[in-house]
Amino acid sequence: MLDTLKPIPPDAILGIMVLYRADQAPNKVDLSVGVYQDEAGRTPVLECVKRAEGEVYSAEDSKTYVGIAGNPGFNRGIEELLFGSGHPALADGRVATVQTPGGSGGLSVAAHLMHRANPDTRVWLSKPSWPNHLPLLRLAGLRLEHYPYYDQRAKRVDFEAMADAVGRIGSGDSVLIHGCCHNPCGADLSQAQWQALADLCERHGVVPFIDFAYQGLAEGLEDDAYGVRLMAERLPEVVIVASCSKNFGLYRERVGAVCVVSPDRERNLRVASNLSNIARGIYSMPPDHGAAIVARILSDAGLKALWMEELEEMRLRLNGLRTLLADKLAERGTSTDFSFVANERGMFSFLGISREQVIRLREEFHVYLVESSRINVAGINQRNVDYVADAIAAVLQA
Ligand code: PMP
Repeated sequence: MLDTLKPIPPDAILGIMVLYRADQAPNKVDLSVGVYQDEAGRTPVLECVKRAEGEVYSAEDSKTYVGIAGNPGFNRGIEELLFGSGHPALADGRVATVQTPGGSGGLSVAAHLMHRANPDTRVWLSKPSWPNHLPLLRLAGLRLEHYPYYDQRAKRVDFEAMADAVGRIGSGDSVLIHGCCHNPCGADLSQAQWQALADLCERHGVVPFIDFAYQGLAEGLEDDAYGVRLMAERLPEVVIVASCSKNFGLYRERVGAVCVVSPDRERNLRVASNLSNIARGIYSMPPDHGAAIVARILSDAGLKALWMEELEEMRLRLNGLRTLLADKLAERGTSTDFSFVANERGMFSFLGISREQVIRLREEFHVYLVESSRINVAGINQRNVDYVADAIAAVLQA
């Protein structure tokens, strides 16, 4: 039976990781990683997490399963983060939330729900999008299409083209939108663009499917939720997937959620039962530890305040590094204007350089990025920023 399997080439980013590890150069720089790093190049456990973890550990008196829908305190906390308190969808009892193994688990459960509701559902993904959207959604049986999103030459969202494509999506189909900190391009929708998109979805019966993996890392916890809250106010059906990997730094604990807004309570109950049934069919019960930590943090005023401080520190560091890199490149008089790096948000941006230039950065300067020229801004720090800027300027010159 196993003979029919064809080997799958390893992930391109993992290949770069291997090359980076093997590189002995003391000045090597890794801008390819997918996780947040601090000034010292570490991905630390947040202090609020350490404290909450201690409390969870000492209070825990059983390892029996949590329910299929997960930790109710976690689900409530996530709903409040996403919607803010008093949001009409929450007040009307039209939101069903299930704790999932990471945002990836949430995307998978959401995709199965859409496919179960209608096996012909088509989902439109931004061009480009997070590469893992493809296998996650395809494995659930969804048919995938693409809408234009990032204009590589103008270095901005091509909203006209996006709106034109969304306007042609059929009723009942879905458009997947990055809530903020677009991965991989860093270019987010403005509030006016979210409003225009809500109008389009409303007019054409398109279901917004929002992947919200970076809340708090663009403009702040509240501002980043603008699109989610607007869509949930304006549209009868919205699917939202949240991840606590980045904003709580809980990557390996696998903490996320899927939240579905329904038009009324009756349909909400049906959605909730289907979400639980799908989760049961994929992994049966979610892991507890990370969600228990998040629930603790969100229900304790002191821990929550500490988390918000730590999150703000990460956000300000990312945005500060963006400005710093753009300034350093401007000082070097590069032919390309890199001010877009300062305007984009989150961990990722495309430098917009060629594949050959990416390879030169790696082979001559030991600066590693993925071949699409996507960089993780968090890999830059005060010690390496001049070196990185010099290296980029050098490959642009020759
Ligand atoms: N969506 C996007 C756009 C992401 O970048 C990520 C993480 N890289 C995720 C979802 C899911 O992350 P996780 O499964 O670790 O929560």
